[in-house]
Amino acid sequence: TKDDVKGCFMRNAFVIFTVAAVILGIILGFALRPYKMSYREVKFFSFPGELLMRMLQMLVLPLLVSSLITGMAALDSRASGKMGMRAVVYYTSTTVIAVFIGIVMVLIIHPGKGSKDEFTKQQQIEQVSPADAFLDLIRNMFPPNLVEACTKQFKTQYAKRVVQVTLTVNESIFTVNGSQEITREEMIPVPGAVNGINALGLVVFSMCFGLIIGSMREQGQPLKDFFDCLNEAIMRLVAIIMWYAPIGILFLIAGKIVEMDDITAMGGQLGMYTVTVICGLLIHAIFVLPTLYFVVTRKNPFVFIAGLLQALITALGTSSSSATLPITFKCLEENNKVDKRVTRFVLPVGATINMDGTALYEALAAIFIAQVNDYDLNFGQILTISITATAASIGAAGIPQAGLVTMVIVLTSVGLPTDDITLIIAVDWFLDRLRTTTNVLGDSIGAGIVEHLSRHELQNKDPETGNSVVEE
Ligand code: ASP
Repeated sequence: TKDDVKGCFMRNAFVIFTVAAVILGIILGFALRPYKMSYREVKFFSFPGELLMRMLQMLVLPLLVSSLITGMAALDSRASGKMGMRAVVYYTSTTVIAVFIGIVMVLIIHPGKGSKDEFTKQQQIEQVSPADAFLDLIRNMFPPNLVEACTKQFKTQYAKRVVQVTLTVNESIFTVNGSQEITREEMIPVPGAVNGINALGLVVFSMCFGLIIGSMREQGQPLKDFFDCLNEAIMRLVAIIMWYAPIGILFLIAGKIVEMDDITAMGGQLGMYTVTVICGLLIHAIFVLPTLYFVVTRKNPFVFIAGLLQALITALGTSSSSATLPITFKCLEENNKVDKRVTRFVLPVGATINMDGTALYEALAAIFIAQVNDYDLNFGQILTISITATAASIGAAGIPQAGLVTMVIVLTSVGLPTDDITLIIAVDWFLDRLRTTTNVLGDSIGAGIVEHLSRHELQNKDPETGNSVVEE
């Protein structure tokens, strides 16, 4: 019909515009590089890109909350329990595979050569112990103030404190009386906060809240309708922003190419490291995830991935899986026709905790730093790295370069110098984009797989309540 033709054109138009934006962005970026723009000029130039970032980020909070609440409320607790289990099994297994690939790649290619001379150190990174970071992860699940959770995330920080100790000596036998003042410096943890939404806390809250509303049946209906309507309205806003996305992506990419450091910085060990990360991510994204999708669903994974193209390119342009979330929703629901009850549930959670690319990268980077330091890791330490890399990927927010910061946990867990994170900062902006794309792909394939596994529950939808019925 006419509508089909129009719909088909719209979808293809998006893909064509987006791909064209990437190509144009790269050409424009390299064409403008010789002009050596000042910092301010680059900021002016990439302004349309900054606007796209801001528009997407603006939608993340209402989208995350409304989609999770409606998603959970639409399912009865047993159906969502089953779906939740499947999602958790998928998240865990793909993250473990990703970490494994990262470790194997870095051990085989061995990009680090035990010499730090070729690196330029850039900036200091604070020290955080793995225990602090783990506790912060759990603390963030339970935000004491929901309004604050929309603007801040909890993070332990350290302050230097000078302590005065007064020693009093009172020895009557030797008749030495007196006191002495000793000052020493101590690092004390202070509860702090970092800007950016506490997605983990909001996810936990929204899931519980949605479940409760769902269990309230008629009484919960007004709230259910409210969040349903909010979700629908946000998705319509997303549809408008999608038309602007190619322009934003063009300038984000061009702007980054204009401002990036000289590419010769990529030579030597850092170059090899970059290649290793790229290979690992490619194996995971082009081989492992599609194979898994095919094995479970028996459908062509590349058709599925083609439907996601705009989301993947947005991830590449923004290096943020949460900012990409609105587009991921659109692609999955409209192009790939994934059931809304699945996307609403799997995507927000996935964007927050399931980061295959980040996990792969953190394990790989930590071992690379060990190699550069000529530090031999034994099996136990490699195991520790894989566990902490998984935790660090869960704790990383879906924002640019979050993975670099949570790497502190991985490094400290095996006693590697955390300062050495600075060795890889020069190439991180680039690798961050690739791992973000892998993260978004992992979440999306997860939605496809969970939908397929949950097809029976989704079929038996109770038309009265909208709740799905689970067979005995
Ligand atoms: N930028 C990544 C993301 O948003 C997280 C990371 O730094 O690894 O998914």
